Amino acid sequence: MTKNKNIVIAIDGPAGSGKSSVAREVAKRMGLQYIDSGALYRAITLYVLEKSGESFTPEDVCRYLNTIHLEQVFNADGSCTTICNGIDVSEKIRSETIASHIGKISDIVEVRHFVNARMREWARDHSIIVDGRDIGTVVFPDAIIKIYLDASVDERAKRRALEYSLKGKDVDRDELKTQIRLRDEQDMKREFGALKKSDDAIYLDTSNITQNEVVQSIYSLINTKIQYC
Ligand code: C5P
Repeated sequence: MTKNKNIVIAIDGPAGSGKSSVAREVAKRMGLQYIDSGALYRAITLYVLEKSGESFTPEDVCRYLNTIHLEQVFNADGSCTTICNGIDVSEKIRSETIASHIGKISDIVEVRHFVNARMREWARDHSIIVDGRDIGTVVFPDAIIKIYLDASVDERAKRRALEYSLKGKDVDRDELKTQIRLRDEQDMKREFGALKKSDDAIYLDTSNITQNEVVQSIYSLINTKIQYC
């Protein structure tokens, strides 16, 4: 990307702030690899649930890590495929069951080390844009650009409701707001890798701007930055 080295762009923020759509669009425009860190935590959660059901212990989870191999492929159409032990789990990891157990899995520090090590491996070979919760603070503290995307709970619930309705599902907006608040709290209170704006991250509230405008701002920021690298 720059003359001599690969770059990392970190995009953090709460659920529904638009991170992944924005990161995928920027990646497509700039020829970067996109990494969806949430999908990696989701894939581990799926694996654990399939092995142990809902009664897993942290010890079970740590043991399973030795038998999990994760890959991610960023496709030309802007979608991202997550592969666990050779199986495409991209669809399965989006279920409500995964969402309701993922907090317990991503709290486990060994799981975080496992996911972080895999992402750092990928960053050695490619310029990447990664979205998550702790990317700018913990995983890639030297990222060339760090963005913290945010949006009001109302707006995030509206976006989630739209996503569900596009899939033919009718969901209660108040219920969505409750879930979002709960997930924010879980993500922010995590002992390791909590959701937090890095001091050197650029804060963007996307509540009242379009996705295109966010993409354009980030695109300009990156271009300005890499001119000086
Ligand atoms: O990004 P997404 O909503 O798919 O993330 C799902 C969950 O994965 C988060 O709520 C959080 O529990 C976990 N996660 C995390 N650290 C990241 C990305 C996701 O703990 N960097």
